[in-house]
Amino acid sequence: MIIDFHVHAGQGDGMTGPWDTSAPLAKYVARANEAGITHSVLLPVFQSDYRRGNHDIAALVRSEPQRWFGFAMVHASRDRDRIHRMIEEAVLDLGLCGIKVHHHDARINRQICDAARRWHLPVLYDPAGEIGPLELLAQTHPDVPFVIAHLGSFADDWAAQRRMIDLIVRYPNLFSDTSGIRRFDLLEEAFHRAGPGKLLFGSDGVFLHPGLELAKVYALKPDAPALRAMAGGNALRLLQRARHFRNNIAGRATGRPPAGGHAGAVAMRAG
Ligand SMILES: [Zn+2]
Repeated sequence: MIIDFHVHAGQGDGMTGPWDTSAPLAKYVARANEAGITHSVLLPVFQSDYRRGNHDIAALVRSEPQRWFGFAMVHASRDRDRIHRMIEEAVLDLGLCGIKVHHHDARINRQICDAARRWHLPVLYDPAGEIGPLELLAQTHPDVPFVIAHLGSFADDWAAQRRMIDLIVRYPNLFSDTSGIRRFDLLEEAFHRAGPGKLLFGSDGVFLHPGLELAKVYALKPDAPALRAMAGGNALRLLQRARHFRNNIAGRATGRPPAGGHAGAVAMRAG
């Protein structure tokens, strides 16, 4: 089992580039199949209404629930007053199992961290190089797993990525995905210092090639348990935690099984 923890899907209305316009999955699926990637976490692209984007992601997950996991995206300032409602809907009605936040929209805030805590969700956050405040999140919400995209900087900010390594070494609830990290020495340092338990394979598909991104994980020359952890075991642990909580609370709150998602997909063990 290989889980790609970082894949964009659906449509946006920004029309400045693929990242806010369209992320069709067809080519990604072919490339992922070739690379042996069996599951992927789907995230909305940038857009003006993430509630709509979250519904789109949920529809994709429902279309192939054995393959896809879905995360809800929220805008930290625009959605500030409806974050709890959005996340409740995402979990109970849409079957989504994590939260995606991008600093390009607005810096992550307490409402988002509290919502993640409330619903036992992992947060995938792209801090766009702003690493300092992540230490605060790690301290105020030690029970929330934060997966930081691109080791903190898609733009190859070397100093930011160096600091990010220090933080994932120090804080048990901080992780990084491997997507888009170009300076291989930094990925290797993260692997050796933080350990395979703190890295999650992610590709930043559909925009980056999942096979190329996965090759970086193999290039670390991990032993079998380390590879299993990075390629899916760590991700499954975080996703299962959310799913189990959701299934419990959804059954209790509504007396009906939760929509979307597929319990079988999380019942599998790593390896
Ligand atoms: Zn991305």
